[in-house]
Amino acid sequence: MEVDAAALKSKGFFQQVQKDFFSLRLCVSGGTVSTGFLKKVIEIAENHGNGQIHVTTRQQIEIPFIPSEKVETVRGILQEAGIKAFIAGPRVRGVSACFGAAVCKFGKIDTGDLARAIYDKYFGRELPAKLKIAVTGCKNNCARVEANDIGIRGSEQGYTLYFGGCFGHEIRVGKTIIPVLPKKEDVLNALEKTLDFFARNAAKGERLGKLLDRVGVDDFKKILEQGL
Ligand code: SF4
Repeated sequence: MEVDAAALKSKGFFQQVQKDFFSLRLCVSGGTVSTGFLKKVIEIAENHGNGQIHVTTRQQIEIPFIPSEKVETVRGILQEAGIKAFIAGPRVRGVSACFGAAVCKFGKIDTGDLARAIYDKYFGRELPAKLKIAVTGCKNNCARVEANDIGIRGSEQGYTLYFGGCFGHEIRVGKTIIPVLPKKEDVLNALEKTLDFFARNAAKGERLGKLLDRVGVDDFKKILEQGL
């Protein structure tokens, strides 16, 4: 059967090396899922995949070996269960996070709560290039936030933001540009400004770090500091 792999990728189904099979990537926000979500994932993997479930390095979940003829059935199951598939391409991706203060004794901020707030507001927003965000609860940095376009690290003082990191065929370490932000609302405000700046100024496919290298950080810093 002829399949439109690019169209399926935009719906979260990634064509495998075995061309008649697809790996379904699901979006996980904040690194924690419910048992109800996992039961549904298991049901799909057992009934429509090969019984395997893969956890990606950014905490997303994939169900491989879904035959092309079962894709629509699986999409129906996801829709009924209210489960969102990953969206590839130039947009805000899932937000990864460590356990943070809700569970970990070292945590200084509620990482899950912040990651979900970011995900609910921005997941899937169209941008010139992909944009990855991670949140970590303390200096131990289990979520490796400087490897993301925007990283957020908790401390006793509040939230340190890192901008412009990436970790792929190119490696770039995110940099701090503004002082530590004391409140969660300040972080959300800075994110809004960053996404607007990125959307206005980046060329197609240009990641945030490259944009900041090209235009410098001065204007961006001024924008971020307005109202702080
Ligand atoms: S970064 Fe800190 S708060 Fe998060 S899991 Fe690691 S030790 Fe715990």
